[in-house]
Amino acid sequence: MYQSELIPAMKGYIAGQWVSADSGRTMNVHNPATGDLLGAVPMMEAAETTRAVEAAEGALAEAPSAEQRKAWLMAIAKALRDNAFELGRIVTLENGKPLAQGEGEAAYAAGFFEYAGQNMDVLKPRRLDERPNDHTWTVHFRPAGVVALITPWNFPLAMVAKKLAASIAAGAPAVVKPSEKTPLSMIALFRLMDRLDMPPGFVNLVIGEPKEIGRVLMEHEAVRVVSFTGSTAVGRHLITASAPSVKRLSLELGGNAPFLVFDDCDIAAATDHLMKNKFRAGGQTCVCTNRVLVQKGVVDRFAAAVAEKVLALKVGNGMEEGVDIGPLIDRAGHDKVRRHLEDALKKGAVSLTGDVPAPEGPNWGQFFKPTVLRGVTPEMACAREETFGPLVAIQEFDTEEDAIRLANGTEYGLAAYVFTKDADRACRVIRNLRFGHVGWNTGSGPAPQAPFGGMKQSGFGREGGPEGMMEFVEIQTVPMA
Ligand code: ADP
Repeated sequence: MYQSELIPAMKGYIAGQWVSADSGRTMNVHNPATGDLLGAVPMMEAAETTRAVEAAEGALAEAPSAEQRKAWLMAIAKALRDNAFELGRIVTLENGKPLAQGEGEAAYAAGFFEYAGQNMDVLKPRRLDERPNDHTWTVHFRPAGVVALITPWNFPLAMVAKKLAASIAAGAPAVVKPSEKTPLSMIALFRLMDRLDMPPGFVNLVIGEPKEIGRVLMEHEAVRVVSFTGSTAVGRHLITASAPSVKRLSLELGGNAPFLVFDDCDIAAATDHLMKNKFRAGGQTCVCTNRVLVQKGVVDRFAAAVAEKVLALKVGNGMEEGVDIGPLIDRAGHDKVRRHLEDALKKGAVSLTGDVPAPEGPNWGQFFKPTVLRGVTPEMACAREETFGPLVAIQEFDTEEDAIRLANGTEYGLAAYVFTKDADRACRVIRNLRFGHVGWNTGSGPAPQAPFGGMKQSGFGREGGPEGMMEFVEIQTVPMA
């Protein structure tokens, strides 16, 4: 069992109290690098979730002031920064990413609370300059109601931070449901929030059976917004389940990010950006490049440069010094990357980095040797599906039109990257890409100050920036005679 001052007990948090599952049942959380048991967290189900929603509904009745919410947001940001080392360890132990990235995630999460705290003015009532019908018109941004925040395992802290910072700013009480694979970071965040003077029920944490918790969150009338990050399959299910009570959804679903390398770009810079982008969290982020599309004239040079850097990466336990890539989250994650690799090799792609050893043993330590493939084509699984692992899949293209067509040839539309020195070309290409986030000469992912989200089947709604805060308010318009 992992001992941390930030995890005094492996419990959920409902109505200001640390609580176990009614049934007393627990589920184990393991370190994906070693298989070590980190803890046994409550296996909550419908009854606990209902109580969490009711507690949040109670908190809605006594809305905290804007000054109060701002003070909480700034205090959470400070607590995350002050405890970044310990939080980073917890993230790394349960998720597997290298420790520097775990600590970086705590700082990244802090940025969302800080940004929301510093920018709450966007939620101030707005008096119209015009006087339609000879009335004074005021637009108010009211808390949307109880909000449900459902998150995945790849950023155990930051995925919740993006949503929770905005919901606190909006004054909307929250029920948080983290991934069952990585709930410990959330217990730690709630421990930090428990030290503040938030009213009971304003923030709640339920951990446990996803289907049962999800069912109550989707059925309960008091829940007005569900903000979800995860797979497109579960996102589709939530869309259907939200219909009877007409909830607002904010969905950040799967991606299939293209990384476009034109022959006029700075190849060294493009290579560096690809390495940082592709291998963050071992390739397990929704903005990680999935398809590398390279113009014919530079593909030899680019592929060789990438392969050389990939061969130098160190794979291992994220707690060890100098490790670049940790394990994949679990055996299923590993097997998907392996399936994509084998499918591509069978259909004619070539590995520039040698063979990948088959996994040994049980579910733990599924370290995948980072691999560069050339000769990838659009019908291969690694080009159609999100690989979510350290596989660099390089395709070639001829013209700008080919590049745009290939890049858009997916049902997803989350992140894309374009490398070219030609500003006219960049404008033409970016305008035609159906992706919510497009980096020009950068592999940068999202930032707290900017809205981030997808087009097409990558979902709808935005996180970060003023737009992110608007997800958790209802607009109320008051004409006054
Ligand atoms: P991932 O593969 O990234 O874990 P999932 O979509 O399976 O993606 O999970 C994302 C989050 O959604 C997790 O917190 C998971 O527990 C939760 N989840 C899974 N199934 C459901 C469901 N039926 N209703 C609500 N939440 C769910």
